[in-house]
Amino acid sequence: MKIADNKVVQMHYKLTDDKNTVLDSSEGREPLSYIHGSGNIIIGLEKQLSGKEEGDKINAVVSPTEGYGERDDKLTQVVPKSGFQGDEEMKVGMQVQIGTEQGNAIASVTKIEGEDITLDMNHPLAGVTLNFDVEVVSVRDATKEELDHGHVHGPGGHHH
Ligand code: ZN
Repeated sequence: MKIADNKVVQMHYKLTDDKNTVLDSSEGREPLSYIHGSGNIIIGLEKQLSGKEEGDKINAVVSPTEGYGERDDKLTQVVPKSGFQGDEEMKVGMQVQIGTEQGNAIASVTKIEGEDITLDMNHPLAGVTLNFDVEVVSVRDATKEELDHGHVHGPGGHHH
């Protein structure tokens, strides 16, 4: 059976960046399950899996525009350290929750200079070219219930 919209796909994958750093992998875990065509996984990978079959192995290179987006410098801002409460010491690399006009968001601390803290609200993988090594483990039709819910049930999926 070929991968097409409304099929449930199980796959093993390894995700690396352009420096060959492993960012994520299903190694040692259950394969990942998703419903093809429902936006469960990033669009650039979904496109390249279309038409593949059980047992196929592919290397999919996904550009930032079809991955987590380009970096947007407008999404960084400098805020005063005094704006943060709590005892935890601010460190570069830590993630903080901030309030925005669109609600709460997660930002990474990218620089600390005296009382100035630089926050970056870009996705950590924004601007990164993604390399997926994928092995298709199985392909089956999604059930009506799975399509209604928009996610996979059973092994490797959601449970209710
Ligand atoms: Zn469900």
